[in-house]
Amino acid sequence: MSRGWIVLIFINLGLAYEFGKGEELMGKVVLSASREAQDLVKAIEAASGTRTSLCYQCGKCTAGCPVNFAMDYPPRQIIRLLQLGLVEEALQAKSIWVCASCDTCTARCPRGVDIASIMDALRREALGRGRVFRDVSAFNQSFLNGVKRFGRVHEASMVVEYNTRNMKLLKNAEQGPLMLSKGKLNILPEPIKGRKEVSRIFDKVKEMEGDHQ
Ligand code: SF4
Ligand code: SF4
Repeated sequence: MSRGWIVLIFINLGLAYEFGKGEELMGKVVLSASREAQDLVKAIEAASGTRTSLCYQCGKCTAGCPVNFAMDYPPRQIIRLLQLGLVEEALQAKSIWVCASCDTCTARCPRGVDIASIMDALRREALGRGRVFRDVSAFNQSFLNGVKRFGRVHEASMVVEYNTRNMKLLKNAEQGPLMLSKGKLNILPEPIKGRKEVSRIFDKVKEMEGDHQ
């Protein structure tokens, strides 16, 4: 066998190993992404105005993410899922609901990948498909409803609404008296001055995006 063939074989083995490492990271074996998956990745990239192919997996986004400890796939891996065409896994990831939209990842990315917008686009896509963690959705709605009503979060009414939505009316109820006694919880909400304007913002967003509640 010529030296050229031997070199070629080693190069191919090396590439196969690298490719395998990426797949192993996700615990999946991907031979090729379907056309549907590729189109969906493109749609998510278009909606977020960014390209996942720019990412070279440095991990700076994950290192700066304040909630990565609670994620199943940290930001870097969400991008990797999309690069591999594993868009369904990205849509089902808990991470997209844990993301606090703080933009830290986007600001840290040396390649200009707008990860926060990708997270947002994935959330919207998942919502449109009815794929949402029930707990997360309940919390999200309870939080937003409180902000709409009072212009700010009122923890007590948010917890009541959250528990009601989850059909667990007395969950964490024992914490209430202790928090009240320590001044950490107000029984009555304290609406802000511009709450009507805040409410109008919610109505406008609903009008623009449709009601997913
Ligand atoms: S910081 Fe940017 S380039 Fe680095 S892993 Fe995250 S998305 Fe990829
Ligand atoms: S926008 Fe989301 S993913 Fe990015 S750093 Fe903030 S919480 Fe983490």
